[in-house]
Amino acid sequence: MIPNHELSPSDLLQLDRDHVWHPYTDFTNPGLITPVSHAQAVELHLADGRVLIDGMSSWWAAVHGYNHPTLNQAVIDQLGKMAHVMFAGITHEPAVKLAATLAQISPPGLNKVFFSDSGSVAVEIALKMAIQYWHSQGQAQRTMFLTLKRGYHGDTFGAMAVCDPHSGMHHLFHHALSHHLFAEAPSCGFDEPFQETHIAKFAQLIQQHRQKIAAVILEPIVQGAGGMRFYSPDYLRRVRELCDKNGILLIVDEIATGFGRTGKLFACEHAGISPDIMCMGKALTAGYITLAATLCNDKVSNGIASGDNPAFMHGPTYMGNALACAVANASIELLLNSDWETRVASIGKQMRDELAPCKEFSYVKEVRTLGAIGVVELNRPIVSSQLVPLFVELGVWVRPFGNIIYLMPPFIITPDQLSKLTSAVLKVVATLAE
Ligand SMILES: *Cc1c(COP(=O)(O)O)cnc(C)c1O
Repeated sequence: MIPNHELSPSDLLQLDRDHVWHPYTDFTNPGLITPVSHAQAVELHLADGRVLIDGMSSWWAAVHGYNHPTLNQAVIDQLGKMAHVMFAGITHEPAVKLAATLAQISPPGLNKVFFSDSGSVAVEIALKMAIQYWHSQGQAQRTMFLTLKRGYHGDTFGAMAVCDPHSGMHHLFHHALSHHLFAEAPSCGFDEPFQETHIAKFAQLIQQHRQKIAAVILEPIVQGAGGMRFYSPDYLRRVRELCDKNGILLIVDEIATGFGRTGKLFACEHAGISPDIMCMGKALTAGYITLAATLCNDKVSNGIASGDNPAFMHGPTYMGNALACAVANASIELLLNSDWETRVASIGKQMRDELAPCKEFSYVKEVRTLGAIGVVELNRPIVSSQLVPLFVELGVWVRPFGNIIYLMPPFIITPDQLSKLTSAVLKVVATLAE
């Protein structure tokens, strides 16, 4: 049947079961699927009238909350001009403004912006930039990447090949991926004193394979989907030094961390470093329309341009989508004109205080916060599909994974709303004892 009327909640769920695949989900047994009818600020309104406080920001993205009048207006204004026009041989104000803004606000030196549709594709583009750069330099043998265990860079083939091969979500595809080099995940926490031994293995790998490595790629300061781990800015500083010393490019994946989530606009700023190539996505459009960007410095862009093939060989159909660029411009302006640093810091402090009682449980390994990210790590795996219904019953939207229960609410959340999230986490953690 082709649905041509408003669906009842039960029809909607039935048709969803019949036809729709959800992320990382068994379609024969999808667990609880929650129909949302609309969302407003920090609330998800369900089709059955219940309201959930959002603790996820739709995977790092919705930093300003949902249905924001300024962002809505930016989309409406742009829609009246054009939704999209091909980007080959054509340019337009939303894309140019956004590129200039990103070059301005990102770490020094990142001057050229390549737009794409999703984070994974931004990572593919970064990897291709590095490979084409070395090809242009007469070093086409440099095709390997050095990265970190517990890393996550997306779901497409190039990106999967630099995700953690075991704890990552892609071990099933391992045999079909190109093989790269993996150093131990940084073991030195954000606030812990860094010692050279923490990076010894990484330093050894970079030294040993220096002729074959095109670039190092890593998530700065926060390893997200690979375990929500926070590591020392000194580690990242040393990575930059080792890349320089060995003449290797550094790609930093800020897709999750960008736009304020860690307490700095970009996580690189904790270490005061600039990468050669940087990926952005997720909060770039505040969760409105999919868009990503890969930035590079002049060394990379001029290096590519000086080769036999001066054109960088990539060009997505929806490149520089005008609606997405317009909402990104509005979102960045909104962010920079807000007191986001204070908000992120106070969200972090409140989570640190209110999640601390979780430490009482013997099966809680660690409670940690950084910026507006709060993590409760257990010392055993949890079954997310069993916990999500408990959270929904408590009126919050929280989706744990692996052995991690985490919160990263929109920056506009109020202290009362945040307390509702933290107390739900505490209650759910307590039930795990049984
Ligand atoms: C989410 C994420 C990606 C992939 O982005 P998509 O838009 O889902 O393709 C890549 N890298 C990091 C660090 C991410 O968190």
